[in-house]
Amino acid sequence: MIAFIDLQAQQKYLGNSINDAIARVLNHGVFIGGEEVERLELMLASRARVANCISCANGTDALELIMIAEEVGPGDAVFVPSFTFVASGEVVPRTGAKLVLVDVQPDTFVIDPNSLKLAVEDARRAGLHPKIVIAVDLFGLPADYNALAAVARKEGMLLVADAAQSFGGEYNGQPVGCLADYTTTSFFPAKPLGCYGDGGAIFTERADKAEIIRSLCVHGKGTSKYDNVRIGKNSRLDTIQAAILIEKLSIFEEEIEKRRKVAEFYNEVLQDDVSVPVNPNNRKSAWAQYTIKIRNRDVIQKECAELNIPTVVYYNKPLHLQVGYNEALCPRRGLGVSELLATKVLSLPMHPYLTHEDQICIANVLKRAVKNNN
Ligand SMILES: *Cc1c(COP(=O)(O)O)cnc(C)c1O
Repeated sequence: MIAFIDLQAQQKYLGNSINDAIARVLNHGVFIGGEEVERLELMLASRARVANCISCANGTDALELIMIAEEVGPGDAVFVPSFTFVASGEVVPRTGAKLVLVDVQPDTFVIDPNSLKLAVEDARRAGLHPKIVIAVDLFGLPADYNALAAVARKEGMLLVADAAQSFGGEYNGQPVGCLADYTTTSFFPAKPLGCYGDGGAIFTERADKAEIIRSLCVHGKGTSKYDNVRIGKNSRLDTIQAAILIEKLSIFEEEIEKRRKVAEFYNEVLQDDVSVPVNPNNRKSAWAQYTIKIRNRDVIQKECAELNIPTVVYYNKPLHLQVGYNEALCPRRGLGVSELLATKVLSLPMHPYLTHEDQICIANVLKRAVKNNN
């Protein structure tokens, strides 16, 4: 059976290094705040070419910590693409701010700067103060940061990159992590850079905000955990996860390259049969997912499954159609692209250890299923 994501193959490739790294933590016994955490943060900050990296408990907390540090609250509008994983938008309503949903581009799946402009107009008309736009690098492809920064600057908003799926990607030769005022990522096991549990990180150039976020992660600490200068949370990356991530970082570049090769093969063999993902040439995807668009998706998916080819629909319902999000503000023009994509997208098995034979098998089964159903 072909795996959709194969973490065991990665573990095998790393040999004993992960076990050894975990054993070192068991020996020194500092399970929270051990030296591996700081070492990892420095490695990540250097890779992302930013001054500050703050690790935290998961990618959702990373976004929430920014909302708290920026004092987002009632009367503010926070803009998020509707076609995304729920966590991107989840952090907004609880602050009291209005979640404003924005449409995405049909070819790249990422937030559409023109839709953002219109959504800002709508938000102002509703009496809201545009505060933050959270761009999401869906499936690993960086959003159009130059265009988004121009809108954000003009409207006096901060730009946040939800890079849970795109750490390792690039935009105009710059690494993900330094493309926005704040960047967040997730180390959930299935992400391109995943640990063996939950984990996340925030990247920013702003030293003052970095210090506030560090404090928020540990109960709003001042000089110590028992000196509480603000209302915080408990959101830390534990030492064992940091130790695991340090080992995985050593092969990360190589893994991204292997993912890129898989994507290139898929593009080449599938482009005549299905709508393959579009990557503008100023961007490098981290290839968290390889996602095609097809008609009659559900039968095609079923036929692939019958022949042991796993595929997944990310995501079958945009945020504005989710019951929990019926109070979000939707632009007057609607969110038609998000709705259409939700009916057509299908993600194929994607990981660095997918063998050439498996890639061929996946492509053949898919091509046959498409022919049978179109
Ligand atoms: C996974 C993911 C998150 C949340 O990360 P967690 O670590 O699971 O909290 C946020 N946004 C996007 C786009 C994601 O894919």
